[in-house]
Amino acid sequence: MNDWHTHSTASDGALAPDALVERAAACGVTSLALTDHDTVAGVAAARRAAADHGLGFISGVEISALWGRQTVHVVGLGVDCNAPALSAGLQRHQRLRAERADAIAHRLAVACGLADGASRVRDLAGDGQITRAHFAALLVADGLCRNHADAFKRLLKPGRPAHVRAAWTPFEQAIDWIHAAGGAAVLAHPFGYRWSATRRGAAVADFAAAGGDGLEVCTGTTAIEQERQGAREAARHGLCATAGSDFHTPDQPWRDVGRVRALPDGVSALPVPGGDGGTGLVTPPERRRRTNGPRT
Ligand code: AMP
Ligand code: MN
Ligand code: MN
Ligand code: MN
Repeated sequence: MNDWHTHSTASDGALAPDALVERAAACGVTSLALTDHDTVAGVAAARRAAADHGLGFISGVEISALWGRQTVHVVGLGVDCNAPALSAGLQRHQRLRAERADAIAHRLAVACGLADGASRVRDLAGDGQITRAHFAALLVADGLCRNHADAFKRLLKPGRPAHVRAAWTPFEQAIDWIHAAGGAAVLAHPFGYRWSATRRGAAVADFAAAGGDGLEVCTGTTAIEQERQGAREAARHGLCATAGSDFHTPDQPWRDVGRVRALPDGVSALPVPGGDGGTGLVTPPERRRRTNGPRT
């Protein structure tokens, strides 16, 4: 079973890459992609662990990107982690994350009295990328919020006092970084954005027109009806489909690693990026080139 969207301690996941792989193997995953936020730092360790477990592995990343003013997530699968354009782009995003963390810490100090947020969030994230989820954890630990959802709703999401906009790259460029690294670009969790059907359709259409390869049709939190809808939208725009749990932590059993339905019948599944069964040898995946004419 494929799980092509997971997180480790390289960003906001709870498990180190090798522990994630071990859990994936125990959960019956046969092909795993590690897709941390704006980093591939966990990929080498995960790949080694996957080889030990005889598990198919795909090097991946989840890039924060802008569609207009809206942040969307673009998953890159089968990327060469050393490709120059991708490395440079991720490095810029990592700088943005560090700067944004200081700004968020400052705002949280003002908004709710969070003490010492900047240094504590760095300790919490360790070598990993700092995300808003780390701040949510601090807020809960300090008794300032009831749970993560509460922290996002009151403080961290757009329009709230501690939300800080980041100048993520435009999604067209995220797609280009991924392609230049030999990977396939997938629009992550299309039902995760609180979009109307019309807006979602426009995003998917723009993603396809920009050369995107796939749509993440099944996730740990999609309902079957959404997956059928996603499959129709992928087909309409000539995108392949992928499935990934978006695993972060064993504490969220509803999106445990491997806990994702198989793709609906009739969709065109994204071929395994690299075409090597996930042993980590990356070659550019076969991609349909977009033309200006109608797709047949
Ligand atoms: P960032 O990329 O730093 O803006 O952080 C985004 C991460 O925060 C997501 O990948 C989720 O892990 C987490 N997140 C976003 N929204 C929520 C929410 N409403 N409740 C809990 N976690 C969230
Ligand atoms: Mn996350
Ligand atoms: Mn995401
Ligand atoms: Mn994710």
